[in-house]
Amino acid sequence: MADDLVHVMAVIGAGPAGLFATRALVVAGCRVLLLNRDIKPGGLAEYGIFLDKYKMKGGLRRQFQKILGDPRVTYIGHVNVGSEGALTVADLQRVGFDALVFAHGAQGTKYLGVEGERLPGVYHAKDLVYHYNRLPPFSEREFPIGRRVAIVGVGNVMVDIANYCAHYCDCEEIIAIARRGPFEKAYDDKEFEDVEDAFDREAHRQEIERVRPRLEAVGQNADDLHKALAEEEEPRERARARLRFRFLASPKRVVAENGRVIGLEVEENRLERKGDRINAVGTGQISFIPCDTVVFAVGDRVEERFGLPYKDGLYVTAPEAAQDAGAAYQVWDPQTQQPITGVYVVGWARRASDGVVGRARLDAETGIKRVLAGLASTPKHSSAEAERVISALLDKLARDGTAFVTYPEVLRIEEEERRHATEAGVEEHKFKSDQDMLAHLGR
Ligand SMILES: Cc1cc2nc3c(=O)[nH]c(=O)nc-3n(C[C@H](O)[C@H](O)[C@H](O)COP(=O)(O)OP(=O)(O)OC[C@H]3O[C@@H](n4cnc5c(N)ncnc54)[C@H](O)[C@@H]3O)c2cc1C
Repeated sequence: MADDLVHVMAVIGAGPAGLFATRALVVAGCRVLLLNRDIKPGGLAEYGIFLDKYKMKGGLRRQFQKILGDPRVTYIGHVNVGSEGALTVADLQRVGFDALVFAHGAQGTKYLGVEGERLPGVYHAKDLVYHYNRLPPFSEREFPIGRRVAIVGVGNVMVDIANYCAHYCDCEEIIAIARRGPFEKAYDDKEFEDVEDAFDREAHRQEIERVRPRLEAVGQNADDLHKALAEEEEPRERARARLRFRFLASPKRVVAENGRVIGLEVEENRLERKGDRINAVGTGQISFIPCDTVVFAVGDRVEERFGLPYKDGLYVTAPEAAQDAGAAYQVWDPQTQQPITGVYVVGWARRASDGVVGRARLDAETGIKRVLAGLASTPKHSSAEAERVISALLDKLARDGTAFVTYPEVLRIEEEERRHATEAGVEEHKFKSDQDMLAHLGR
């Protein structure tokens, strides 16, 4: 029967982008195989959104459950796709999917080239965030946090890290380091409310005065900052840790003694106005910030060695995307100067570290419109053929001994986690390792 005909698709990555892409494909009548590196779905919605945002995480989980419960979706977790994974991009291209939608997020690390960036006691935010949100294998590694933590970056992820250091660690001082000034902060005030009890207002006033001449040099009014500070209500309860900002500073070197971090050397910056933009320009003057832990919260990049054409932290999409917005979703082969048939990117895999869940969802939904337009002249398959394509891939995984996990198995894991949480009287419990989850499934 003609209405049984479907396109069969693979979505790689079950974070918000992959899940909302899956929903959009299913709504359009496609059959979808959703492959995910982690055993459990959700990506950073499960393993990134801050620990105590239970309501937000619960709401998202309910939406994801609906998508994953659809009979037209087959979820397979614990399958690493990529050049060193259980399945390569070429494996997926060979099997017979009508399109591949890559939604595997921004898993590469953005190194700034700062000396000492890989020392013990120096972390990249994503790894630490994965650790405290209990994503294996990061949940199994130690991430000791000292008394004085320098966080490089002033976005919402910095706020989350400061929140973790102030409320979940034995930390006394947290210093958020900004390349530019207080007017260029990137975090949202609403997010900052979570660390108001640690925010050291007096230190902030002093810091504004320290950088006043450099703000005034570009026409910024330091008095506006003091006024805004005076209008804020002081929190009644104070955290033990003190959070302060260090503006106009670019990290140059993590300084260690006997293998232990003792501080961060920064170059003092001045500001320069270029059109609408305020840029930081190094002055050559070096300052020393004592600290015992450094966290780089400067955003991520996509995984370079994944198997898709890569340039400057992103996968390559069509150069003419400026004229045709949809082309920005299709992966482009720089050698042949042609789009790669049936290969698309959405969410943080397309634009690394770009915005909140709502934005990843919009990106996925916009991308799927492009995917569907690209399929207009591709013949559909019978349901039986579509099932054969999916089975062929699962058979390959089984033959190769990949311990993949199905959605009914994820539900069993989640049920056990809920049972643990109830027993312990806590909001949430997560298995610490993949082995523990697999053992619960009797593997
Ligand atoms: C610290 C932090 C806090 C945040 N807090 C909030 C918040 O409070 N509210 C909000 O709205 N947004 C928040 N965000 C942003 C939000 O998490 C992102 O917008 C969103 O998760 C991006 O979705 P994504 O699906 O593109 O990527 P991800 O969420 O990263 O999902 C990627 C998925 O791909 C899978 N994957 C990765 N590599 C592979 C591979 N090789 N093979 C197969 N699968 C793979 C992963 O298992 C994962 O499931 C936060 C982000 C961070 C970093």
